[in-house]
Amino acid sequence: MTKITVVGSLSMDLVVSASKRPLAGETVIGTNLSLFPGGKGANQAVAAARLGADVTMVGCVGDDAYGEMIVANLASQQVDTSLVKRFTNQTSGTAHITVAEGDNSIIVIKGANDCVSASLIEEARATIAASDIVLTQYEIPLPMIAYLADVCESEGTPLLVNPAPAATVAPETLAKFSYLTPNESEAALIFGQQSRADSFGAFPGELLITLGADGVCFKETTVPAFKVAVTDTTGAGDTFNGAFAVGLAEGQSLAEAVRFGNAAAALSVQKLGAQSGMPTRAAVEELLA
Ligand code: ADP
Repeated sequence: MTKITVVGSLSMDLVVSASKRPLAGETVIGTNLSLFPGGKGANQAVAAARLGADVTMVGCVGDDAYGEMIVANLASQQVDTSLVKRFTNQTSGTAHITVAEGDNSIIVIKGANDCVSASLIEEARATIAASDIVLTQYEIPLPMIAYLADVCESEGTPLLVNPAPAATVAPETLAKFSYLTPNESEAALIFGQQSRADSFGAFPGELLITLGADGVCFKETTVPAFKVAVTDTTGAGDTFNGAFAVGLAEGQSLAEAVRFGNAAAALSVQKLGAQSGMPTRAAVEELLA
């Protein structure tokens, strides 16, 4: 079984629906509250685990009820949670989402996701060394991404970085990433408004830019997305990254792993929600057949 370690965020998304958004000082009676486990780290861990990888999550939650729910949810998806730390006097990461008048507005509280530390990454070192690939995103402190890149380099484990939400890191850190998977707006922020060819030249590892319904481009190739009827694109990028990591960990070629990721993401956009829409291995293989 291929082994993947995800170092990243975990959160609870609290989605409130209302017929209108409250103005400053106003109270509105909403219609519904739904809770969804999320965080890009946890989402990508679940995507990879559903596809059959042996996944360990490294991250932090608070000592609140959400933390318990987040860990229980990951465990129910067969993700190893032994390196998910519970911090006392800290809240779990939460996203407060209001859906009203056809639009979302979101407040994110990072909470315990800001507690990911060098000592936690050191605790995970042996697991990282034993992994086929490590996967991370930018929802933990950026200095920890640099630290993780050093650990992966010294242990000889490839590092796949999904640079979301968009941010820039030092060029010497970027140079240690094996794979980088920005979407178009993240790529524009990281590489400036240069041409795609210049962006590819500026990154020594494998750069893969995800293009939504247009698929993924890397080097001179674009691997088209599967044409599907879209229900909800929430979590498309997370599904792509989790699946792409599985493909790479299994030794698939870059093009094959991208196609595997595209297939998983295409299945996810046909369903509502991030984790709830992530496909099984059998469903991906059926689409690829
Ligand atoms: P993000 O969600 O991070 O912004 P993208 O929108 O680029 O990322 O989507 C990531 C991947 O999900 C795409 O490369 C593609 O494989 C898949 N995808 C996204 N939108 C669609 C769509 N409408 N139809 C089919 N696949 C899609």
